[in-house]
Amino acid sequence: MIVLNARGKPFSWSYSSLTEFESCPSRFAAKRFYCTTVEAETEQTLWGTRVHKAFEERIKDSKPFNEDFPPNYESWAKALSQLPGEKHFERRFAVRKNFAPCDFFDAGAWGRGVVDLLVLAEDTAVIIDYKTGKKKDDDTQLKIFAWFVANEFDFDRQIKVAKCRYIWLKDNSTTGIELKNLDAKMVMNQMLPRIETMERAWNDQTFPCFPSGLCVGWCPVTECIHFKERKVWR
Ligand code: SF4
Repeated sequence: MIVLNARGKPFSWSYSSLTEFESCPSRFAAKRFYCTTVEAETEQTLWGTRVHKAFEERIKDSKPFNEDFPPNYESWAKALSQLPGEKHFERRFAVRKNFAPCDFFDAGAWGRGVVDLLVLAEDTAVIIDYKTGKKKDDDTQLKIFAWFVANEFDFDRQIKVAKCRYIWLKDNSTTGIELKNLDAKMVMNQMLPRIETMERAWNDQTFPCFPSGLCVGWCPVTECIHFKERKVWR
Protein backbone atom coordinates (compact mmCIF):
# COMPACT_ATOMS: atom_id res chain seq x y z
CA MET A 1 0.00 0.00 0.00
CA ILE A 2 1.32 3.44 -0.93
CA VAL A 3 1.22 5.84 2.01
CA LEU A 4 0.23 9.35 0.95
CA ASN A 5 0.74 12.59 2.85
CA ALA A 6 -2.04 15.04 3.76
CA ARG A 7 -1.79 16.52 0.26
CA GLY A 8 -2.14 13.09 -1.40
CA LYS A 9 1.55 12.84 -2.38
CA PRO A 10 3.68 9.70 -2.02
CA PHE A 11 7.13 9.59 -0.42
CA SER A 12 9.94 11.32 -2.24
CA TRP A 13 13.30 12.63 -1.13
CA SER A 14 15.78 15.39 -1.90
CA TYR A 15 18.95 16.40 -0.10
CA SER A 16 17.05 19.13 1.82
CA SER A 17 14.21 16.85 2.90
CA LEU A 18 16.73 14.21 4.00
CA THR A 19 18.65 16.69 6.17
CA GLU A 20 15.37 18.02 7.59
CA PHE A 21 14.31 14.49 8.49
CA GLU A 22 17.66 13.66 10.09
CA SER A 23 17.65 16.86 12.16
CA CYS A 24 14.12 16.22 13.53
CA PRO A 25 11.64 13.71 12.04
CA SER A 26 8.74 15.44 13.82
CA ARG A 27 9.51 18.81 12.24
CA PHE A 28 9.96 17.12 8.84
CA ALA A 29 6.56 15.43 9.24
CA ALA A 30 4.75 18.65 10.21
CA LYS A 31 6.03 20.23 7.02
CA ARG A 32 6.03 17.36 4.54
CA PHE A 33 3.71 14.62 5.81
CA TYR A 34 0.90 16.17 7.88
CA CYS A 35 1.39 19.50 6.04
CA THR A 36 0.34 21.47 9.11
CA THR A 37 3.36 23.81 9.07
CA VAL A 38 4.72 26.14 6.47
CA GLU A 39 8.26 27.39 7.04
CA ALA A 40 8.21 31.16 6.60
CA GLU A 41 10.77 32.82 4.35
CA THR A 42 13.60 34.41 6.31
CA GLU A 43 15.92 37.23 5.36
CA GLN A 44 18.58 34.56 4.61
CA THR A 45 16.38 32.42 2.36
CA LEU A 46 15.15 35.48 0.42
CA TRP A 47 18.76 36.61 -0.06
CA GLY A 48 19.75 33.12 -1.21
CA THR A 49 16.98 33.08 -3.85
CA ARG A 50 18.03 36.54 -5.09
CA VAL A 51 21.68 35.51 -5.33
CA HIS A 52 20.93 32.34 -7.31
CA LYS A 53 18.79 34.30 -9.81
CA ALA A 54 21.42 37.03 -10.13
CA PHE A 55 24.18 34.49 -10.91
CA GLU A 56 22.04 32.86 -13.56
CA GLU A 57 21.22 36.20 -15.20
CA ARG A 58 24.84 37.35 -15.02
CA ILE A 59 26.27 34.16 -16.60
CA LYS A 60 23.47 33.46 -19.08
CA ASP A 61 22.53 37.00 -20.18
CA SER A 62 25.59 39.05 -19.01
CA LYS A 63 23.26 41.09 -16.78
CA PRO A 64 25.44 42.92 -14.20
CA PHE A 65 24.88 42.30 -10.50
CA ASN A 66 22.93 44.96 -8.63
CA GLU A 67 25.01 47.54 -6.80
CA ASP A 68 24.12 46.11 -3.39
CA PHE A 69 25.88 42.79 -4.21
CA PRO A 70 29.37 42.21 -2.76
CA PRO A 71 32.17 42.90 -5.29
CA ASN A 72 33.60 39.36 -5.14
CA TYR A 73 30.46 37.98 -6.87
CA GLU A 74 31.57 39.41 -10.21
CA SER A 75 34.91 37.56 -10.17
CA TRP A 76 33.16 34.24 -9.46
CA ALA A 77 30.62 34.85 -12.22
CA LYS A 78 33.36 35.81 -14.67
CA ALA A 79 35.33 32.63 -13.95
CA LEU A 80 32.19 30.48 -14.29
CA SER A 81 31.05 32.13 -17.50
CA GLN A 82 34.44 31.31 -19.05
CA LEU A 83 34.11 27.57 -18.39
CA PRO A 84 34.01 25.74 -21.72
CA GLY A 85 30.96 23.56 -22.42
CA GLU A 86 27.20 23.51 -22.50
CA LYS A 87 25.72 25.40 -19.52
CA HIS A 88 22.53 24.36 -17.78
CA PHE A 89 21.02 26.63 -15.13
CA GLU A 90 18.97 25.35 -12.20
CA ARG A 91 19.04 21.92 -13.89
CA ARG A 92 16.36 19.71 -12.42
CA PHE A 93 16.92 15.99 -11.95
CA ALA A 94 14.38 13.38 -10.89
CA VAL A 95 14.34 9.60 -10.77
CA ARG A 96 11.87 6.85 -10.09
CA LYS A 97 12.63 4.21 -7.46
CA ASN A 98 14.36 2.03 -10.07
CA PHE A 99 16.64 5.07 -10.79
CA ALA A 100 15.10 5.65 -14.22
CA PRO A 101 15.20 9.40 -14.92
CA CYS A 102 11.79 11.07 -15.09
CA ASP A 103 10.23 14.53 -15.24
CA PHE A 104 10.84 16.61 -12.12
CA PHE A 105 7.08 17.07 -11.58
CA ASP A 106 6.19 13.45 -12.33
CA ALA A 107 3.85 12.21 -9.58
CA GLY A 108 5.93 9.02 -9.37
CA ALA A 109 9.30 10.77 -8.88
CA TRP A 110 11.10 9.17 -5.94
CA GLY A 111 14.21 11.38 -5.72
CA ARG A 112 14.85 14.94 -6.87
CA GLY A 113 17.73 17.41 -7.06
CA VAL A 114 18.39 20.82 -8.62
CA VAL A 115 21.93 21.75 -9.70
CA ASP A 116 22.57 25.52 -9.68
CA LEU A 117 24.97 25.38 -12.62
CA LEU A 118 25.89 22.30 -14.63
CA VAL A 119 28.52 22.58 -17.37
CA LEU A 120 28.89 19.60 -19.70
CA ALA A 121 32.07 19.46 -21.74
CA GLU A 122 32.98 16.30 -23.66
CA ASP A 123 33.67 13.78 -20.90
CA THR A 124 33.49 16.14 -17.90
CA ALA A 125 30.61 17.51 -15.88
CA VAL A 126 31.22 20.58 -13.72
CA ILE A 127 28.68 20.87 -10.92
CA ILE A 128 28.38 24.20 -9.10
CA ASP A 129 26.37 24.97 -5.98
CA TYR A 130 26.30 28.56 -4.65
CA LYS A 131 26.26 28.91 -0.89
CA THR A 132 25.31 32.13 0.88
CA GLY A 133 25.53 30.73 4.42
CA LYS A 134 28.31 29.62 6.74
CA LYS A 135 31.00 27.32 5.34
CA LYS A 136 30.47 23.64 6.20
CA ASP A 137 32.55 20.54 5.77
CA ASP A 138 30.06 18.16 4.12
CA ASP A 139 30.19 17.09 0.47
CA THR A 140 27.03 14.96 0.59
CA GLN A 141 24.91 17.30 -1.52
CA LEU A 142 27.60 17.49 -4.22
CA LYS A 143 27.94 13.71 -4.24
CA ILE A 144 24.19 13.32 -4.74
CA PHE A 145 24.32 15.78 -7.63
CA ALA A 146 27.20 13.83 -9.19
CA TRP A 147 25.10 10.69 -8.88
CA PHE A 148 22.12 12.32 -10.63
CA VAL A 149 24.39 13.48 -13.47
CA ALA A 150 26.15 10.12 -13.91
CA ASN A 151 22.81 8.31 -13.72
CA GLU A 152 21.13 10.46 -16.36
CA PHE A 153 23.82 11.42 -18.86
CA ASP A 154 25.46 8.04 -19.00
CA PHE A 155 22.62 6.90 -21.22
CA ASP A 156 23.61 9.00 -24.20
CA ARG A 157 27.12 10.24 -23.49
CA GLN A 158 30.01 9.06 -21.35
CA ILE A 159 30.68 11.42 -18.46
CA LYS A 160 34.02 10.21 -17.12
CA VAL A 161 34.48 12.67 -14.31
CA ALA A 162 32.29 15.01 -12.26
CA LYS A 163 34.07 18.08 -10.82
CA CYS A 164 31.84 19.31 -8.03
CA ARG A 165 32.29 22.63 -6.21
CA TYR A 166 30.47 24.59 -3.54
CA ILE A 167 31.15 28.31 -3.88
CA TRP A 168 31.12 29.86 -0.41
CA LEU A 169 30.30 33.44 -1.31
CA LYS A 170 30.63 34.94 2.18
CA ASP A 171 33.97 33.27 2.72
CA ASN A 172 35.06 33.87 -0.89
CA SER A 173 36.31 30.31 -1.19
CA THR A 174 35.43 27.01 -2.78
CA THR A 175 35.46 23.38 -1.63
CA GLY A 176 34.44 20.19 -3.34
CA ILE A 177 35.29 16.84 -4.79
CA GLU A 178 36.07 15.15 -8.04
CA LEU A 179 34.37 11.85 -8.74
CA LYS A 180 34.94 9.42 -11.58
CA ASN A 181 31.82 8.09 -13.27
CA LEU A 182 31.90 4.78 -11.40
CA ASP A 183 32.47 6.45 -8.01
CA ALA A 184 29.60 8.82 -8.73
CA LYS A 185 27.37 5.82 -9.38
CA MET A 186 28.42 4.25 -6.08
CA VAL A 187 27.17 7.28 -4.13
CA MET A 188 23.69 5.80 -4.02
CA ASN A 189 25.05 2.78 -2.12
CA GLN A 190 26.05 5.12 0.71
CA MET A 191 22.84 7.14 0.53
CA LEU A 192 20.31 4.30 0.35
CA PRO A 193 20.38 3.33 4.05
CA ARG A 194 19.68 6.97 5.01
CA ILE A 195 16.90 7.33 2.44
CA GLU A 196 15.37 3.98 3.43
CA THR A 197 15.24 5.03 7.11
CA MET A 198 13.29 8.10 6.03
CA GLU A 199 11.00 6.10 3.77
CA ARG A 200 10.30 3.59 6.56
CA ALA A 201 9.35 6.41 8.94
CA TRP A 202 6.99 7.77 6.26
CA ASN A 203 5.37 4.39 5.62
CA ASP A 204 5.01 3.65 9.36
CA GLN A 205 4.04 7.26 10.13
CA THR A 206 6.54 7.27 12.97
CA PHE A 207 8.19 10.63 13.36
CA PRO A 208 9.96 11.04 16.73
CA CYS A 209 11.08 14.39 18.13
CA PHE A 210 14.83 15.09 18.17
CA PRO A 211 14.99 18.09 20.54
CA SER A 212 17.85 20.51 19.96
CA GLY A 213 18.67 24.20 20.14
CA LEU A 214 16.26 24.67 17.22
CA CYS A 215 13.33 24.08 19.61
CA VAL A 216 14.03 27.43 21.28
CA GLY A 217 12.22 29.75 18.91
CA TRP A 218 13.70 28.48 15.63
CA CYS A 219 11.20 25.71 14.89
CA PRO A 220 7.84 26.53 13.27
CA VAL A 221 6.12 23.58 15.03
CA THR A 222 4.93 25.69 17.96
CA GLU A 223 2.47 22.98 19.10
CA CYS A 224 5.37 20.55 19.81
CA ILE A 225 5.89 19.79 23.52
CA HIS A 226 9.59 20.70 23.13
CA PHE A 227 8.96 24.11 21.60
CA LYS A 228 9.99 27.13 23.67
CA GLU A 229 9.68 30.82 22.83
CA ARG A 230 12.97 32.61 22.32
CA LYS A 231 13.88 35.00 25.14
CA VAL A 232 13.75 38.64 24.09
CA TRP A 233 16.35 40.75 25.93
CA ARG A 234 15.38 44.35 26.54
S1 SF4 B 1 10.25 21.87 18.64
FE1 SF4 B 1 12.16 20.69 18.51
S2 SF4 B 1 11.56 18.55 18.80
FE2 SF4 B 1 9.71 19.72 18.31
S3 SF4 B 1 9.45 19.52 16.12
FE3 SF4 B 1 10.59 21.39 16.47
S4 SF4 B 1 12.75 20.81 16.36
FE4 SF4 B 1 11.55 18.94 16.60
